[in-house]
Amino acid sequence: KLSNRLKIVGDFVSQNSRILDVGSDHAYLPINLLKNGKISYAIAGEVVDGPYQSAVANVKSQGLSDKIDVRLANGLEAFTEEDDIDTITIAGMGGSLISQILDAGKEKLHSIDNLVLQPNNSERNLRIWLQENGFLIVDEVILEENEKIYEVIFSKHGESNLNETQIEFGPFLNQEKSPVFKKKWTRELEKQNKILKNLRENSQDSHRVKEIEAKIQFIEENL
Ligand code: SAM
Repeated sequence: KLSNRLKIVGDFVSQNSRILDVGSDHAYLPINLLKNGKISYAIAGEVVDGPYQSAVANVKSQGLSDKIDVRLANGLEAFTEEDDIDTITIAGMGGSLISQILDAGKEKLHSIDNLVLQPNNSERNLRIWLQENGFLIVDEVILEENEKIYEVIFSKHGESNLNETQIEFGPFLNQEKSPVFKKKWTRELEKQNKILKNLRENSQDSHRVKEIEAKIQFIEENL
């Protein structure tokens, strides 16, 4: 059974898509989407041999080797135009790594309609990358699972002009301000307050103190 996190990633994949799942690890997401008739074909990309082998074994034991190609490849190198991929999913990695993966293969993204991205952190870096590279955020979800809070970003080609607040908190998440959103930023506020207290007691770095104070104020304004 799929984690709620990966289920929500899968919910953004449209019916009959052909997907590339980058960093697929065990290949649970493509296996699940295929078994549920949501997609017709997937590439499970993995750059590390251990997870690659595990993906190959899982796909084979589910009898899906004809519909899921498991490929040992770095990022977007896992697909070519001939694969006719329309959707890329990248989940369970840092937002900066996701941005790097997209950036390294950005000349291949023109043929991709949908990006479903689930950064574990540094969401702001990913939003900046998307905006600067002609991708529009069309929806977002925030969820909690096993004490961890995750964000899922659904993006398509398009222009946007997000302000600093929307970049930091997410254009949709900041509108919605769900209980999980409030929990995430309350946690972050507590963390920054601790850092500030520590700085005031142990350091003379007034520039850093001002920086943290500004961060705290920014979060408080948006909670
Ligand atoms: N996507 C799955 C999920 O969300 O549950 C697995 C997440 S796992 C924590 C991250 C996986 O990404 C690892 O298996 C790692 O080997 C893989 N990975 C990291 N960088 C990659 C890259 N540049 N290309 C392909 N896979 C990568």
